[in-house]
Amino acid sequence: MSPSGADFDVVVLGGGPGGYAAALYGASAGLSIALVERDTVGGTCLNRGCIPAKALLQTAEVYRTATHAADFGIMPEGDGAFRPDWARVEQRTTGVVDKLVGGLSTLLKRRKVTIVKGHGRLTADGAVEVDGQTLRGRATIISTGSVPRSIPGFEPDGERIVTSDHSTRSDVLRERVAVIGGGVIGSEFASVFTDVGVQTTLLEALPDGVLPIGPDREIAGVLARSLARRGTTIHAGARVTAPSPSDGGLVVGFESGSTVEKIEVDQVLVAIGRRPVTDDIGLESLGIALDERGFVAVDTATMSTNRAGVYAIGDVVDTPGLAHVAYAEAIVAIQHILGETPVPVDYTGVPWVVYTHPEVAWAGLTEEQARAAGHDVEVHKHRFAGNGRAMIIGETDGMVKVVSAKNGPILGFHLVGPWASELLAEGYLAVNWQATPLDVGHFIHPHPSLSEAIGETMLTFSGRSLHG
Ligand code: NAD
Repeated sequence: MSPSGADFDVVVLGGGPGGYAAALYGASAGLSIALVERDTVGGTCLNRGCIPAKALLQTAEVYRTATHAADFGIMPEGDGAFRPDWARVEQRTTGVVDKLVGGLSTLLKRRKVTIVKGHGRLTADGAVEVDGQTLRGRATIISTGSVPRSIPGFEPDGERIVTSDHSTRSDVLRERVAVIGGGVIGSEFASVFTDVGVQTTLLEALPDGVLPIGPDREIAGVLARSLARRGTTIHAGARVTAPSPSDGGLVVGFESGSTVEKIEVDQVLVAIGRRPVTDDIGLESLGIALDERGFVAVDTATMSTNRAGVYAIGDVVDTPGLAHVAYAEAIVAIQHILGETPVPVDYTGVPWVVYTHPEVAWAGLTEEQARAAGHDVEVHKHRFAGNGRAMIIGETDGMVKVVSAKNGPILGFHLVGPWASELLAEGYLAVNWQATPLDVGHFIHPHPSLSEAIGETMLTFSGRSLHG
């Protein structure tokens, strides 16, 4: 398929979820692919993001369960105490990451993807240069990802001031931590830290302290209350000032409303968002346009940049910074390269999951957004408190909330509670298939299961329910 002069059909720059998905999907469609990666394939998500962070959250979950073992009739012997052994935790997390990275490398090899190790740069003639080697592709995909943003005065050193790049390593855990930013990363780490006994203070600039952007307010409120109950100190509307060293650690000052406070901590985790990696990859030499926020500008119908044959996907473009969105964008780009007509990603319906305790998950519009969009809205909820399976597993905090157009399709599906991450699949399909609540309520949900709470919520729209 390669025209003369091209070594590959596609050269992919960056081997994170966007890049490796493009390589795997393209290769399975018969394209010859070069994947350029300067570090380890898998990118942030596999190596120091989604995977190790969720492994750490699972450790916190096991610890929580172990310390409540007596509730289930499992009585401790000896001193009865459970303590995290951080070396073992680290070993397990690294083990999971290594297995996945190894599996991915094998899969790429099996699909005959050529992995080129090194820093790649686009050149003026549309090739990609990697340490003196020139790779020519019929098409190029930029998937260089993102890195944590920092705040002046809070430059990360990996010890006292850290970002999520460091915090997935349990050896950097400290006794007192200030988390700056109550978004997805801040909330997930606040949840882990709190559950393993770290004294945690969450400082969020916006008026809502926990997940201020994204989920339904009522849903985020359940998580905020749970974190506070378990010991996280949350300050919303907080304006932080640069930390200063103290005898025991760092002093962080902040203003929140009329309060001006200083707290002493051992570590600060900066989690105020991520910025795209666009430096030193040769974008200017090819004249690739950036948008006003510094992301690579693309037409999301095809993921094409302003240069024909050059695509950009994943965190380097201004779409939700989620691995699974990058996967979907990779498919769109490859289909366009193949000359097919891709179905563009519907960014209004993507699945969102925050792996805190309790988990938060949603797809579609929040109640507020649906009303603001002018829909005649009907909303029903069902709490896990009365759900048999939730009682059995000892996790009854949370609810299902469904936002629907009156006598019309489901506009938004929202969860907070046990295994919300897994339960979301049904709601995601309902929103994106534009099902009505009664379409879904008609289906059978196994008993006893957490999913019954979904069935009950949907049935309530008919004015009837079993246990609602
Ligand atoms: P985010 O945008 O989700 O949250 C950043 C938060 O920091 C916001 O609430 C913002 O108001 C706050 N903030 C900004 N400046 C501040 C300041 N000076 N002081 C106090 N608060 C401040 O960003 P994130 O949590 O860093 O996550 C980065 C990216 O990683 C996101 O795209 C996210 O979707 C992705 N991610 C997703 C998951 C998941 O889906 N489970 C997990 C981790 C990361």
